[in-house]
Parts: sequence; structure tokens; C-alpha cells
Amino acid sequence: MGGTRRVAVIGGGVSGLATAYHLVGGSDASQGAGDGHGVAVTVLEAGDRPGGKIDSATVGGVTVDTGPDALMIKAPAAAELVADLGLDDDLRPPSGRGAYLWSKGALRPLPPGSVFGVPDKLWPLLRSGLLGPWGFVRAGADLVLPRAPLSGDPTIEEILRPRFGTQVFDRLVEPLLGGVHAGRAGRLSARSAAGEVFSLAEGRRSLYLALRNRRTDQRPPASPPRPALMSLRGGLGRLVDGLVGVLGRTPSATVLTGATVTSIARHGGGYRITGDGFEPLDVDDVVLATPAWAAEKLLRPVAPSAADAVKGIPYVGVATVVLAYSPEAVGGVPSGTGFLVPPVERRLLVGCTWSTSKWPHLLEGRSPDAGDPPVVIRAMVGRDGDQAWSGMDDAVLVTAVRRELAASMGVHGEPDAVHVRRLPLAMPQYTVGHADRLRAADRALAEPPGLYLTGAGYRGVGLAACLAQAKNVAAAVRARVAEPVPAA
Ligand SMILES: Cc1cc2nc3c(=O)[nH]c(=O)nc-3n(C[C@H](O)[C@H](O)[C@H](O)COP(=O)(O)OP(=O)(O)OC[C@H]3O[C@@H](n4cnc5c(N)ncnc54)[C@H](O)[C@@H]3O)c2cc1C
Repeated sequence: MGGTRRVAVIGGGVSGLATAYHLVGGSDASQGAGDGHGVAVTVLEAGDRPGGKIDSATVGGVTVDTGPDALMIKAPAAAELVADLGLDDDLRPPSGRGAYLWSKGALRPLPPGSVFGVPDKLWPLLRSGLLGPWGFVRAGADLVLPRAPLSGDPTIEEILRPRFGTQVFDRLVEPLLGGVHAGRAGRLSARSAAGEVFSLAEGRRSLYLALRNRRTDQRPPASPPRPALMSLRGGLGRLVDGLVGVLGRTPSATVLTGATVTSIARHGGGYRITGDGFEPLDVDDVVLATPAWAAEKLLRPVAPSAADAVKGIPYVGVATVVLAYSPEAVGGVPSGTGFLVPPVERRLLVGCTWSTSKWPHLLEGRSPDAGDPPVVIRAMVGRDGDQAWSGMDDAVLVTAVRRELAASMGVHGEPDAVHVRRLPLAMPQYTVGHADRLRAADRALAEPPGLYLTGAGYRGVGLAACLAQAKNVAAAVRARVAEPVPAA
């Protein structure tokens, strides 16, 4: 019967690292009981550090996440991993101050309680000044319109625009989607990219009433709940450090960086993995935890139908520009968490996080002698249909971002430090047909056995969704551990 099962995980972002972690025993491994549970795993990461999108930079003396900066801690897979890695005490909440939309020449309060821009409270929406009188009246049509039967795979736009009108759609729905997916509502599948909106629209006549009822049905918790989204002291890279630490202490796990996989070929009953920066590796199973466009190339020779299925998953590039200012240069510390920008405004900025106001812990531990703490602003540019940033060099990009910070926030001062991070082909777009593509990929990967896909390109773009997928894929591989290892 089976000896040790050899698994290669391609891609050392959070998805690949978490898959490897669960393969060698998960919480058992983190408790030091990591004999690998019958699995020997090698993570092959092309970059010179593990973590993928998760990274940070120290700008003006403050260490800021330059990729993801918030973890959906209410998701069980995230809460469990943070606890297993002993990071519970390092969770840090956001300040809870409000966010804004830069709309019609001013920063206007983002009405609280909206799911992907669908309002569930009318008064804050009215007060926000986001909508004109007609837009507000038109939004109310959702209350009286008959139920619209959903068929096929509608876009988010097809569901929301008819119900709430153009103003809610342009000024609320689109900017919120931009912030999460860097995507556009006219292309994204509601079922795949906004499942909550899809199921509410499927089951109820009025979306506004469905959301409002859900809010009033929720009993107030006995003790204050922790915020849904949190960060970690020292940044979300602590998750990466934690996972790499456990894998490093597990004798049957190896994490290689600077290891770019260029080919997967059938070899005996398993696979031979070759590439740059590592010796050819023979394994029984291969987990592809890369973006879908990288998986497509690697799958082409061994599983062409699966390659065809994932080829249809488009990606959009984004960049983050982090600027550190003295409080005087920005005219005081901003009193919110940041703002989003509706695409209809035709600006370069997609959104902007006032990092030091949103995450007070970023200034924890500063010496009182260090003077006034800096104000750190993190701008995000790039969304589906707007890749203007990619044609600008860093100096031009920073100038363009500063021009918009001046127009939106009145920031005219010079930054003391700036950091630009470019992330081409970073954000997967779950466009119409995404669920069909995943089904086709699953069917195609049933034969030959031993090939798996995981990561942000497939079943959830956020970190918590990546962690849940990683756990599931590790369980699927582990289910084969008891099978005899095929003779080479
Ligand atoms: C600017 C930005 C902000 C975000 N904000 C948030 C947020 O606040 N909260 C949240 O939950 N999510 C956020 N996300 C999404 C989240 O960061 C990603 O979904 C998640 O990090 C993806 O992890 P992954 O491991 O699936 O992919 P990646 O992090 O992309 O990792 C894939 C890895 O595969 C490697 N690779 C590719 N090809 C090969 C090859 N041939 N051989 C070897 N290695 C290869 C790459 O080098 C990379 O390291 C954000 C994303 C971006 C870009």
C-alpha cells in the first residue's frame, strides 16, 4: 500500500502555501506534530520571496501592505488559520471611520450597509448627496417592480440597473465593484462575482426589502462582534511568515523560491516537473496555485481541455501607489478610511485608502520623540477597460495620482516618500460563463488524475476564499494518499 505521496505545489502565494500547509497536516503541523501525514510536498515559487500578491513596503517609516490589506476574518477558513498560526492576538481592527465616494466634484459619504452598492437604508443614501432627486426616486422603483425572473448567467448590471436605475448603478454599484474586483458590472457574472446579490435577487421581489429584512432579522450579538475585516500587526505578510515557518519545521515540506516551472509532463504513473532554478522533480500529484493564465500554459500539453477552460478567465492589471506625507502637507489627518471612484468620473484613481487613518496599528510602537506621525495614503489605479497606468513610468504615474489627490482631497504638499507597486494581470475577472468554465475544467481534470487547480482565479478572489479553496484542494489530494502510489 501507498508509501509517501509526493506532491508539487506550483505557486507560493497564499493559495499554494496554505495548500501545502493543509497537505502536511494543517493544525497538527502548526503544533509541531508535522511528520507530513504521508505526504511530501514541494512548493515551487517563481518569485524571489513567497507570498505572491501579499507584500509590504516601508514608506516614510511606516510599513504598509502594498497588496491585500484586509482579511475577511469572519470567514471560518481565515479565522481557523489565524488561530492555528497563533496570530489571534496580533489581529488589528480598522478604525471604523466612514468611507467616501469621489463623485460629482466632492468626497461624499458612502452610505453604510450597502452590499455591492445595493442600499438597505434610504436616509443615509438621501443625505449622501450621491443621487439627484430623480435618481433617488428611481432607486425606489425596486420596491414596486415585479420580480424579474433570472435565467442563465446574468451580469451584475443586468440585475441591478433595471431595479435601481442608472444613478445607483453608476455612483454606488460600479465603484464598489471596482474596489473589490477592479471589474465592471456589465461583464462580471452576478452568480460568480456577487453570489450574495444573485441569491437575494433570485429568491425575492425587492432587493432593498430583502437586505433590510436580513438586517433587522439579525439579532444583536451578546458581545460586540469583531469586525468582519481585520489586519495583522506587522501586516498580512505575517500569514505568509506563519505558513512558511510551519512548512520549514516540517521535514517532509520544502519551499523553493526562484523556481519557475516551465513544464509538466506525464512520467510513469505521475508527473515530471521541470523549470528554471530547480532540479526536475518527479511527483504523484500536482497542484497548480498560480494565476489561471500561468496554469493554462502549464496544463496545455498534459490536459489541453482544462487549459482551454481556464484560458477564458481574463485578468486585469492594477498598481498601488503609497505616499507618506507630513500632516501639514495634507492639511490635517483625514477623518475616514478612504474613498472609491465611480468609473463614470473617468479618473485614473479607482480608490484610495487613508492607510494610517484606516489602520491605527500602523503607527503602534512609534517613539514619541519621532515627531508627528506621517499620513500614509495608498492609491489604487487600474480596472477592467482602463489600463492607462500601465503606459506610464513611475514618475508620470505618481504625478498623475498626486494631481487627483489634489483635486479630491486638496492635498497639494510634497510627499516625503513614495512607493509604486505594479501588478500586471493581477485581478481575475469572473465574467459571464465563469461557472461553466470551472465545471469544464473540473471535468477535464478528472482524467488524467492527480492535477488540481486552486487560487484566486477560480472560486473567490479574496484571501479568505483562497484559504478555503486551499483547504478543499488539500483534502482532495489527501483523499488519494491511501491509494497505492503508481509504480514509476
Ligand atoms: C492591489 C490588491 C489588493 C487586494 N486587496 C485585498 C484585500 O484587502 N483583501 C483580500 O482578501 N484580498 C485582496 N486582494 C486579493 C488577494 O490579494 C489575492 O486574491 C490573493 O493574494 C491571491 O493569492 P494566490 O496565492 O491565489 O495568487 P498569487 O498571490 O498571485 O500567487 C501565485 C503565485 O504563483 C507564482 N507563479 C506564477 N507562475 C509560476 C510558475 N510558472 N512557476 C512557479 N510559480 C509561479 C507567482 O509568482 C505567485 O507568487 C487584493 C489583490 C490586489 C492585487
